[in-house]
Amino acid sequence: MTSAIYLDAQGTERPRPEAVAAINQCLTTDFGNPSATVHKTGQQSLSILEAARETIAEALNAPIDGIVFCSGATEANNWALQSFFRENTKLVASAIEHKSVLEPGARICKRTEGASFDICRVTSAGLIDLQDLERRIEGENAIVSVMYANNEIGTIQPIKAVAAICKKHGALLHVDAAQTVGKIPVDFTDLGADMMTISGHKFGGPVGSGALILNPALVEAIDPMIIGGGQEAGLRAGTIPVAMIAGMATALETAIEELEATSDRIRTLRDHLIEGVRDIPSFFLNGDMDQRLTCNFSGGFLGVDAALIMRRLPNFHFSAGSACTTGAATSHVLEAMGIPRPQQKATMRISLSWATTEADIDQLITQLRATVSSASPRLVA
Ligand code: PMP
Repeated sequence: MTSAIYLDAQGTERPRPEAVAAINQCLTTDFGNPSATVHKTGQQSLSILEAARETIAEALNAPIDGIVFCSGATEANNWALQSFFRENTKLVASAIEHKSVLEPGARICKRTEGASFDICRVTSAGLIDLQDLERRIEGENAIVSVMYANNEIGTIQPIKAVAAICKKHGALLHVDAAQTVGKIPVDFTDLGADMMTISGHKFGGPVGSGALILNPALVEAIDPMIIGGGQEAGLRAGTIPVAMIAGMATALETAIEELEATSDRIRTLRDHLIEGVRDIPSFFLNGDMDQRLTCNFSGGFLGVDAALIMRRLPNFHFSAGSACTTGAATSHVLEAMGIPRPQQKATMRISLSWATTEADIDQLITQLRATVSSASPRLVA
């Protein structure tokens, strides 16, 4: 059996060896509880934890006291929305946000007196409609949640422009940067966001690690996520998983050191994939190709369902639409862009990893051509 070719990095990135080594070190040697500072084992873990916080703060130009570790982006998104939601508040999110924003948003609003939830439009290219956003928050007591980059189509949103609009109208801005950190330079302070979500497993750290990053002015004001133990300055109780956090920080450090080189290399490979299949009739791509993560390919062949290609190519591990939405038949992201259902069904999300090679992509091109040809012979000469 030939070995699998992993092309689902936006679902979860292949862990960086440096991160695995840091986790191993914590689990075998530095395994203490960082709250148990009465002994050396605990003190050592605390110093690893705080070094990780410093690494992340530096890598993202974020205030060190504003970093609250948690289990990942789903938790951070839920928390960000919940904690500032009060009566008569309006939540505005873009139509292509992750379900961990859209579902809690709808639920919180339903339970809060005088609250409302508005969905801001995106263009057919998958970019936020800034005029529509401004219209929706004007004169409102608003919280805005906009993702930095999309998990299905990889489009990068103009967050600084979103932040300027929010500032003008006194709205609080939460940015879900789960897909962006480690892939493009992210500067929390310069962005002008109030809160930002990060997720370790999207940049080569372990699943189950993440953080909500807060503007220092909000640290005092935010409601705790979980209480009962006082960890993370009383904001997120529970014994702190130092191994996971050290793995996340090491992954981020490595990803940022290599960011430019990896991003360029991956762009070349992604474009090579496109060139390798673009002559097949009814080939299509979704979303803006410039304001886009270099790792993302979202497209396919009209008339050939992505699910069929995936069944025929079990050795290639990518996803149809979005791996992040379990069991969804259609994609709310592609739907919001006005993409017709047959094109949605034909959409593959192929996301390249730091570990993807040219040989991987060459094999994929060959296999895609053969599969599309046998599934629909009139499509390939
Ligand atoms: N937001 C975005 C944009 C994502 O892509 C994901 C993961 N698919 C999440 C949130 C949820 O992340 P996690 O797995 O860390 O809970």
